[in-house]
Amino acid sequence: MEVKVLIIEDEWEIIESVSLAFQFYWPEAQVIYAQRGARGIELAQSESPDVVILDLGLPDISGYEVLKQIRLFSSAPIIILTVRSQEEDVVAALEGEANDYVVKPFRQKELLARVRAHVSSWMTNELKYTFRNAP
Ligand code: CA
Repeated sequence: MEVKVLIIEDEWEIIESVSLAFQFYWPEAQVIYAQRGARGIELAQSESPDVVILDLGLPDISGYEVLKQIRLFSSAPIIILTVRSQEEDVVAALEGEANDYVVKPFRQKELLARVRAHVSSWMTNELKYTFRNAP
């Protein structure tokens, strides 16, 4: 499945690790990234990714704010990837309309399996929506 993935993450090691996971297990995926929240929002708008992998601790604005901003124009799945694992963080992220939450250090195959599940159900819904609203 061809898919465009946007990673919003300041740590280069994580960007590299997620990109490598896609290269290895899902080579048709196109991976783009931003290391700052504001840039991430811009890319989410200009590139229309099929899935966003979002870190909560970013240098300029919080990941929660990024989530809120992206939700103003996109219904694409957003998966939070973070070291924060307090229950209130998980709840806050899900209430902010994130689709899923993965805690670092993450398992590559598990992350990709989650991405795949969310992207396919999102694409199926988008398709239904498109058909329903077709002239
Ligand atoms: Ca971070």
